[in-house]
Amino acid sequence: MKITLYATPEITAKPLIAEVILETKALLNIDRADVKPKGGEVVIDVPQDRYDEVTKAFEKRGARIIRLELPVIKDDDECVNCGACISVCPTGVISFKDDWSIEMDVSKCVQCGTCVTMCPHGALTLSE
Ligand code: SF4
Ligand code: SF4
Repeated sequence: MKITLYATPEITAKPLIAEVILETKALLNIDRADVKPKGGEVVIDVPQDRYDEVTKAFEKRGARIIRLELPVIKDDDECVNCGACISVCPTGVISFKDDWSIEMDVSKCVQCGTCVTMCPHGALTLSE
């Protein structure tokens, strides 16, 4: 499962992720990182059975963690199944079904936001 870690300026300079990996021995995969000295966010793939342990380890170090249940949301009333979002997705989340409607495997989403920008109908939004 995926989480978003929000880092404040106070903790940005610390090796937070390395510390949590060493403490929990959980294999964490960084899907996306946008961190600057003033803070930022990192999307991390966490093994499901280690979620509680990893979350607590981050939180005790001052990081705010949000679980990404649904990283990207499609408004079916707005989507016209044009497919413009398919080729721009870097992780292959979006594809056509046999009936040419759109399907999404949101477990692969890294919340890059590219599809949101590309969609001509404003049908896609990133969850907070
Ligand atoms: S936010 Fe990025 S990774 Fe997620 S579906 Fe859109 S393009 Fe793909
Ligand atoms: S770009 Fe927008 S309207 Fe087109 S298939 Fe994707 S979500 Fe639907």
